[in-house]
Amino acid sequence: MKKIITLLLILFTTVGYTQDELIFDNCGADQLYENINNYDARFESYYQSQLELKSKNPVSYYIPVVFHIIHTGEPIGTGSNISDVDIYNLLKSVNNHFKNAHNHPSNSNANIQFVLATKSPNGTCTKGINRVDYSFNQTYVNHGTQFDTSNNGVPAATIRTLSNWNPTQYYNIWIVNKITSSSNVAAYAYLSSSHGQVYDGTFLSYEYAQENTSGVLTHELGHALNLYHTFQGSNGTNCPAQINGCGANGDCVQDTPPHIKDHLKDLNLNAMNSCTGTNNSTFKNNYMTYTSNANRKVFTPMQIMRMQSAINFYRSSYLPANNAAVFQMNQAPTIDFLINDKSSHQKQVFCVGTTISLKNISSCFLNTFNNTTVPNHTSYWSVTKNGQTVFTSSDNNPEFTFTQTGNYSITLLVSNNVGIRNLSRMNIIEIIPTTSINYCSPTSQNIGYYAIGINKVMMHQINNSTAIGINAGYSDFSCSHITHALSSGSNKIEVALSNNNSSVTDNYYVEGYIDYNKNGSFELNELIFSEIVPPNTNNQTFIFFFTPPANVPLKDVLRMRIFSDRYNLSNAKLNCAAQFNIGDVEDYGVYFVNSLGTENIEHTNLKVYPNPVKDILNIETNTLEEGNIEIYSMSGQLIKSIKSDSQYIQIDVSMLSSGTYILTIDNTSQKFIKE
Ligand SMILES: [Zn+2]
Repeated sequence: MKKIITLLLILFTTVGYTQDELIFDNCGADQLYENINNYDARFESYYQSQLELKSKNPVSYYIPVVFHIIHTGEPIGTGSNISDVDIYNLLKSVNNHFKNAHNHPSNSNANIQFVLATKSPNGTCTKGINRVDYSFNQTYVNHGTQFDTSNNGVPAATIRTLSNWNPTQYYNIWIVNKITSSSNVAAYAYLSSSHGQVYDGTFLSYEYAQENTSGVLTHELGHALNLYHTFQGSNGTNCPAQINGCGANGDCVQDTPPHIKDHLKDLNLNAMNSCTGTNNSTFKNNYMTYTSNANRKVFTPMQIMRMQSAINFYRSSYLPANNAAVFQMNQAPTIDFLINDKSSHQKQVFCVGTTISLKNISSCFLNTFNNTTVPNHTSYWSVTKNGQTVFTSSDNNPEFTFTQTGNYSITLLVSNNVGIRNLSRMNIIEIIPTTSINYCSPTSQNIGYYAIGINKVMMHQINNSTAIGINAGYSDFSCSHITHALSSGSNKIEVALSNNNSSVTDNYYVEGYIDYNKNGSFELNELIFSEIVPPNTNNQTFIFFFTPPANVPLKDVLRMRIFSDRYNLSNAKLNCAAQFNIGDVEDYGVYFVNSLGTENIEHTNLKVYPNPVKDILNIETNTLEEGNIEIYSMSGQLIKSIKSDSQYIQIDVSMLSSGTYILTIDNTSQKFIKE
């Protein structure tokens, strides 16, 4: 019998307070927030005066933000230690919200953008992302940060002391492993009147720090720019009460109707707003109500004016006009860029017709990560094939669709207020023909937030994260995520999986296949791994090794398919003859070569010496990222793993037995011989 799962996901986010210590009780944060003391008559009067100046010239606001990732010791890109790319894509999405990426009729450009701070308080260049390993604090590992003193967890004030930049110059955002509360708090922020206070900023649980949950951070930044909830003043049963300075309007914004704080009604477009007698559609899509991420699409014109007023009134020390430090670099950029969110230090392969994103991640360069440019910070890209220019762009982070096969080179020219730098990477992208083999498309009965699914796949150059908890049904990454792999010897694949739905007690089954014989289907002898994941497993990484058959086709993109379902996998499911129940299926491309060390990986940026080595191995890399250095035997067994945060490191290999080893850092590999 078919089981149907219904799971209602409600994201509770809380509002800002002007007190340092957060207090939360069963009456709810919103009730506390109605306290008359939060009403600032001077600001409300300023806001009203700005509303009257309708012909005001549009001004662009750039707010410098710094992210503090308070993690529990995972490698970068795993669990709470989210990757730099996660931050870039989160910021890109939030900035698109503020720039009307949804193109909703009620929305307009807020002319507010958040830039990743690239100048640190001591004046040096920085990525604007600070990582703190807090794994030594067992309370934090178990409970994260407490929402209030009645909850388990480390007080927010303690977290802030770990990493906190001058709040008059930077907006601080702390990414935490968990916010322990009685009501699933995902994030919270303080209102603009907290500007310059040590507690100002946003706390965001890492699971909501992804591109597809970015509406949570947009909502919090709305609070940071002095927006209330659209239902402000409602206790969940009644319309907003006239007990704060905003009156029955609730949120002090005239073009957002007051409504009852009721998650189910908020999500129902056709329900009636009993406070006004109008349709819910007038607030359902607002960023400042409690609704699903997908529904969040609108800041109204008066909300936008209120946010701009809040910047001018409270937060003007962030602005370049007031000589905010972050806008005055003291050195030229150091150039680097990403190709489809991966290092550009090595060649990548894509199918013809693929749209490829380029990201400028130069240091000392202010970036919004969408297509907005910050004054005095310019990018110029050119993509060439055989010396002929194919594409150019002055966006910081452009996207191009490659319609012809061949090898492409990329040149980036970057400037800030100090100087100009350029960088060329020759033949860094290879575009290959698409496969003529037809693969069936699996379907799933239940798609959405079921907390059962594939969260991440890593194999050589593949490093693909998908939303934790969301089962997407079927995703075809076979043209956008292609890796080289070893034809002889063992290949490592890591898969992060969740089976964490409290209403499901079934096992979760996962299998990986590669269509070695290119017949368009997946047979048992093409299985590369299988795993049974028990319930209550959240985002756990499983590691497998596989060796392809001796006759594996070389230099040809083969299809790898990772199947997973809540119930046991059957032949019918694998051949798309039966639907998956809660299925997550992902396809990738694999390109087998004889040796990772010589044929495919360009490792001009990785120096490993002496080679052969007797005892101390020196490793130099110009990668800016912190990374994991791993040493594998030729059979793929992990021998040693070291965390590196430096561009130069020494490793004692004297205890290794003689032979050939593979050293990997990030996605780059090199062989070395131990004498
Ligand atoms: Zn809120």
